[in-house]
Amino acid sequence: TDIQAPVAIALTMQTETQGGFQQAPGRDEDQFAHDGQITKSPVRAMTIAALQPRYGDVLWDLGAGSGSVSIEFLLAAEKSRAVCVEARADRAANITANAKRFGLSHRMNIVTGKAIEQIDTLLAGKFGHPDAVFIGGGARHDLLEALFAKLAPGTRLVINAVTLETESLLIEWQARKGGELLKLELSQAAPLGTMRGWDRARPVIQWSVSL
Ligand code: SAH
Repeated sequence: TDIQAPVAIALTMQTETQGGFQQAPGRDEDQFAHDGQITKSPVRAMTIAALQPRYGDVLWDLGAGSGSVSIEFLLAAEKSRAVCVEARADRAANITANAKRFGLSHRMNIVTGKAIEQIDTLLAGKFGHPDAVFIGGGARHDLLEALFAKLAPGTRLVINAVTLETESLLIEWQARKGGELLKLELSQAAPLGTMRGWDRARPVIQWSVSL
């Protein structure tokens, strides 16, 4: 589609020789500008599935990092738009670069700041209420309280946790609010001496709930 045309210019030769663009979520990490803080591709694929992108949706990506989740959401759903909130300016710059690289700048609103301080501004802004919210960093009690208080019933919320603190937050909130709690434990084969062994990734706890 026309949305993907600019991508042709930016993507690597390697991708082109493999026969075109990847079309499914879980794109290789090296397709995004990032500093190492990026949702790894298999976890990202499962995150997009949990977010259930739909035609015309507005996504809020809170703690957006490189913006990779927003970009894959936008590529999955026509006419969708994403608001990225990222606390660090250097990472927000990566999001801007990735938006350009994928030809999605016109469908993204990139905000530098703390998520909880942006909620009211975003609700009053041009994209309005979200249909789906992803928290990839900075999930805390006060942020969850604010989202449950201010967003419309039926808004889909997905939160990924890698720390014990955030994991315990999600365990507690799932007991209160229901939804699905998923533990993603992935291992990848890697050299082990002259043989191979499983390199374990940190487990990711994922809570999906409808507000
Ligand atoms: N899903 C992202 C990775 C997120 S890493 C990707 O695929 O690229 C988590 C990010 O959350 C970090 O970049 C961190 O700077 C940001 N963050 C942490 N607390 C935040 C907060 N309160 N508000 C906004 N961003 C926050």
